[in-house]
Amino acid sequence: FGGKQDTKEIDGKNMLRNMEASLTARDRVGIQDFVLLDAYMSESAFLDNLRKRFHENLIYTYIGTLLVSVNPYKELNIYNKKQMDTYMGVNFFELPPHIYALADNVFRTMLSEFNNHFILISGESGAGKTEASKKILQFYAVSCPSTKLLNNVRDRLLLSNPVLEAFGNAKTLKNDNSSRFGKYMDIQFDHQGGAVGGHILSYLLEKSRVVHQNHGERNFHIFYQLVEGGEEELLRWLGLERNCQNYSYLVQGDCAKVSSINDKSDWRTVRGALSVIHFSESDIEDLFGIIASVLHLGNIKLNTSTCHFLMETSRRLVFACVLKQGLTHRKIEAKTEEVLSPFSVDHAVYARDALAKAIYGRTFNWLVNKINESLDFSRKTVIGLLDIYGFEVFYVNSFEQFCINYCNEKLQQLFIQLTLKSEQEEYEMEGIEWEPVPFFNNKIICDLVEEKHRGMISLLDEECLRPGEATDLTFLEKLEETIGGHPHFVTHKLADIKTRKTLDRGDFRLLHYAGEVTYCVVGFLDKNNDLLYRNGKEVMRQSKNAIIKHCFPSSEPDSKKRPETVVTQFKSSLVGLTEILMSKEPWYVRCIKPNDAKQPGRFDDVLVRHQVKYLGLMEHLRVRRAGFAYRRKYEIFLQRYKALCPDTWPHWKGTAAEGVRCLIQHLGYKPDEYKMGRTKIFIRHPRTLFATEDTFQVC
Ligand code: ADP
Ligand code: MG
Repeated sequence: FGGKQDTKEIDGKNMLRNMEASLTARDRVGIQDFVLLDAYMSESAFLDNLRKRFHENLIYTYIGTLLVSVNPYKELNIYNKKQMDTYMGVNFFELPPHIYALADNVFRTMLSEFNNHFILISGESGAGKTEASKKILQFYAVSCPSTKLLNNVRDRLLLSNPVLEAFGNAKTLKNDNSSRFGKYMDIQFDHQGGAVGGHILSYLLEKSRVVHQNHGERNFHIFYQLVEGGEEELLRWLGLERNCQNYSYLVQGDCAKVSSINDKSDWRTVRGALSVIHFSESDIEDLFGIIASVLHLGNIKLNTSTCHFLMETSRRLVFACVLKQGLTHRKIEAKTEEVLSPFSVDHAVYARDALAKAIYGRTFNWLVNKINESLDFSRKTVIGLLDIYGFEVFYVNSFEQFCINYCNEKLQQLFIQLTLKSEQEEYEMEGIEWEPVPFFNNKIICDLVEEKHRGMISLLDEECLRPGEATDLTFLEKLEETIGGHPHFVTHKLADIKTRKTLDRGDFRLLHYAGEVTYCVVGFLDKNNDLLYRNGKEVMRQSKNAIIKHCFPSSEPDSKKRPETVVTQFKSSLVGLTEILMSKEPWYVRCIKPNDAKQPGRFDDVLVRHQVKYLGLMEHLRVRRAGFAYRRKYEIFLQRYKALCPDTWPHWKGTAAEGVRCLIQHLGYKPDEYKMGRTKIFIRHPRTLFATEDTFQVC
């Protein structure tokens, strides 16, 4: 319960009946809330329960109000309108666990308490986070009170998803629809609970994917959708051929076709969605002009000896022949004049790719802003949905994984602070006798990455300030010198001692909360600098394409002042995100990936056990079980419930704490069911109260 729920009258009998039913069915389907049964549950028992339920297609299980979800990798018939209706306004324990139950509880708590909430959805790549966030959004869109006016907002909220996924998701080895950007979305409600708007914040898009994909991976979906699904006339106009193989930026991973993805029908969905969310025809033309241009840009061949420009120009390119100079020469300021210095071939390729990444990245930001305009946000109460790229370990891990995994460390830290740590600290503060539950606090890893001066981010930025001198390897040396002794950091020199696994010279390893990851240092400096040559920008400013004009404003300062590095910007945006979240009431969905093969019906014990461990689920359960699900300040509690006892009604003359003691004893609660803290009453399981006392409502 977590002390928050519940606008519907609680039917104690019904709940007891349900609990009994769940007891008899337990052998077959396991238990639906880990907190409910067995005084001490081992990790194996926890796993058995998840497995049992998974094989019965029961993918959801609670730990109190936290929802654990195991990816079924198949369509289950549990997400229809009928199911939504069933879960609306019903207490958590009256129905089998479901993501709709959580969504409904959050919604009702928001309405009754008029405060803001967020749902943190976490789990590694492919565990089902994005699907979960979509289910929640659909639940609100369908089940909230609605008017004709609100229907438009609702459609736009829903349709923003396929558009953002087309531009920000891609096939990776972990997930055929992997989010390559972080997304935080506020859904905004009015006092009647109607969804009246929304606002999206996006985090660090993995731009490098535009120009390079690892084997078995693809570029962002939208490129393939356009080439496969774009109408004949459109393709002709954009100078594109209907064959992904013809585009160098689309075939680096050698898997343009994926059986689980239908680019053609996805194209139609995205094309339709763009119209609904208020993109004008000229916006849409400009947008696809840009996508096509990036593909053409990738096909520019640079002749080895003379660095010649061999591109055929096409009608709708956002850049004309000026680009030739922009890509093959660098503009340098020398004393009083500007000179053009020719690039080497490598440099020219680099400049071309940098431009492609910049164009795509900025267009993506434009897209998010445009969607936000159509969602018409004005502050009321909100439910925030956080769906950010999950923890990732590939065969080769680079700067992008470093950022993604750092982000996951930060979210784990937030979870720890909001649950395990603050909960236990509160018992201590209130003087409640409490056997501390030990847990691994990943703050040590967050510090290792982000500490001022000595942290990895600072060291990387320092190296980025020494152009010409610093290289990826000098960065690695610096890491070795400064943090070589840290228990969570390993380089090849110390690999044998620390983890008994050797490392290559150019690698370092981090022992993340979720497991070991070996990073290849190549490209760290470059990706962090994210430099775009000045004349590349100048060329873009001459474009007639309105989106490009907007994305490369002439007011943008030129390279004299260094812009913040990528990782530093990311770090500040995560600080901002943490602030947004800390001001709201938290709810959690913890997603688990049952196997690495993306297959239904397969539950890999080793893999799941590992996730149960690092997600801190056992610790969470222990704190939950040993703790007190409900707590309120004495004054508030007494005020609310004094009518239940003749001694406290209508006035209590003593202190609030004495009044509460009198009240609670009158109601027949046994000493081990509650504790009196310094300022608050703590009640172990509010449901035992509901079962015996219908009028005892917790709000
Ligand atoms: P994540 O966002 O955690 O990386 P996704 O939400 O994209 O993972 O899920 C990966 C894939 O797993 C989806 O494309 C879908 O095929 C499958 N999947 C995830 N959750 C569900 C679900 N509840 N029901 C059916 N399939 C699911
Ligand atoms: Mg995702």
